[in-house]
Amino acid sequence: MQTALTYPFQLPELAFDYNALEPFIDETTMHLHHEKHHQSYIVELNEAIKDYPLLHELSIEALLRKLDTAVPERIRLVVKNQGGGHANHQMFWKVIRPPGVSGAGSDPSNALARDVTSTFGSLDNFKKEFEKTAVNLFGSGWVFLVYDSNDRRLKVHSTANQDSVLLETGLGAIFGNDVWEHAYYLKYNNGRAEYLHAWWSVLAWDIADERYTGLKNGTLGK
Ligand code: MN
Repeated sequence: MQTALTYPFQLPELAFDYNALEPFIDETTMHLHHEKHHQSYIVELNEAIKDYPLLHELSIEALLRKLDTAVPERIRLVVKNQGGGHANHQMFWKVIRPPGVSGAGSDPSNALARDVTSTFGSLDNFKKEFEKTAVNLFGSGWVFLVYDSNDRRLKVHSTANQDSVLLETGLGAIFGNDVWEHAYYLKYNNGRAEYLHAWWSVLAWDIADERYTGLKNGTLGK
């Protein structure tokens, strides 16, 4: 009998078909993004930690939170990059859905929407700030709506490369958008702003609201 090798981190299945986000995110981009890009971060992360079984017990969130204390220095940079890539993409697939599913494609009226409105003035103001931050992000990176447990505030926050907000004390991602060119270039070419604008049609506000609740009460991302 052959025993399958098990790796601590695995590619999560999508909750929807690869073509389900058309026309906002095209099927080819979805295949490449999930099966090639995300898979590659996982393969490299598993490879980096293969000789450190204690690290295999940690969730990806715990691994990144403990980067400077639990992860040996010689693999710290690769875990930051590849582990960040895994955490960011795992979150990304969780918060997007086809329009009409889990609040995607319509303006929200939940607790998150109320707090976004009171923090940023209006939902439109928030979207503008989020898009502007992403357009102005030089090179590759991510833009997030975070809950900052230090001051219990909602904030737009960007990171470079695959850096996770988990590396920053107190921050949790309610949702984030990937502004690496691999996320949009096939369909939108250099039109990052157009992609960002279209992306709201697939953001699942109901799932974002659940994540917000989980971040506020400390149950998400442990
Ligand atoms: Mn990506």
